[in-house]
Amino acid sequence: MNHLRIDGKRLWRSLMDLAQIGATPKGGVRRLTLTDEDRRARDLFCRWAREAGLAVEVDGIGNLFARRAGADPGLAPVAMGSHLDSQPSGGKFDGAYGVMAGLEVLRTLNDAGVRTRAPLEVVSWTNEEGSRFTPVLMGSGVFCGAFTLEHVRAQKDLQGVSVGGALEKIGYAGAARPHKLGAYFEAHIEQGPVLENEGKTIGVVLGALGQRWYDVTVTGQDAHAGPTPMELRQDALIGASRLVLEVNRIARGFPDYARGTVGFLQVTPNSRNVIPGEARTTVDFRNAKASTLDAMCEELKRAAKAIEAECRVAIELRENVYFKPCEFDPALVGHVRASAAALGHPHRDIVSGAGHDAVSIARIAPAAMVFVPCAGGISHNEIESATPADLAAGCDVLLHAALRAAGVADASRAAA
Ligand SMILES: [Zn+2]
Repeated sequence: MNHLRIDGKRLWRSLMDLAQIGATPKGGVRRLTLTDEDRRARDLFCRWAREAGLAVEVDGIGNLFARRAGADPGLAPVAMGSHLDSQPSGGKFDGAYGVMAGLEVLRTLNDAGVRTRAPLEVVSWTNEEGSRFTPVLMGSGVFCGAFTLEHVRAQKDLQGVSVGGALEKIGYAGAARPHKLGAYFEAHIEQGPVLENEGKTIGVVLGALGQRWYDVTVTGQDAHAGPTPMELRQDALIGASRLVLEVNRIARGFPDYARGTVGFLQVTPNSRNVIPGEARTTVDFRNAKASTLDAMCEELKRAAKAIEAECRVAIELRENVYFKPCEFDPALVGHVRASAAALGHPHRDIVSGAGHDAVSIARIAPAAMVFVPCAGGISHNEIESATPADLAAGCDVLLHAALRAAGVADASRAAA
């Protein structure tokens, strides 16, 4: 099986044909979820899937499942997918790549006459982007049970159109029931600069960063800039400034892809000759491991206590967002890594800073992702770009990782 390769030209052609639907003058795509452009993209995908002999099903939130039978119908399918919707000025590859790569894997297995033990599926999840309708990750969220179908169907866009109404209008409110997945793989452009910077073709995605956000209020006392000696001040901005540096120090000092950002600062009364009595700021901590993320937050609380004493201010930390880190399934991640190595593609482990449908699916099934480089790390932009060679390499890794997960029953035309 090791010699088996996808058809990179066919994959590229499919991506370019798909990108005609909602094409923008700058070479990008505008294909907002559940619009007529989305319907046309769905129609095209379903036509291609049927031409490949796949059985297509649609569930209540419009997720599309295109299935290829396996030798053992009792096994849960190994799925590959992503999303066909885009941002208002999006690119040709974000999401579309994962769906087209999954389809290309099944076309390749058809051509080679390979039958897998477990069934295989290509999935297109509805409204990953969350641009026209919130919440984001809607289709995969309903599938994994994070949201109810009733709740999301009632959500409305700015024109007052509901998700339910839009689904019915484009004819994609289906009746398929949620089913078990044996495994889920998602191929995606990195949307960051790491792979390109290091000259790596494949990112073996270990998971997605968890996040803890704080609103911070530092309280001191307003006082006159002239008469108040330095040692008697209660300067809230000095306290906040110390905290900003501590956030940076903490993030640099912890492992597991630690990130720490302060992006907001508001000073009161904000007058050049008044010692600031209050400063409001924020902290955004991210990490791939829940325990390390917790340790960063404990360190922040200790630092705040020390600053309170030294600067004679009070610091209030209010946590307002907590997303748990997502760790992908070690066995599937291993399949991705082993496939990249066997195919001879330069690869590295990487953690996603952004959310993906795979993060939803990881709640209910083993999941993993394959990243490929995108030019300049830029996405959610019409200029988003990736090379045919990198996209083909990622699709080959997807093929072999899926074969490892599904098992090969027989290969009539493909020499072993
Ligand atoms: Zn995406």
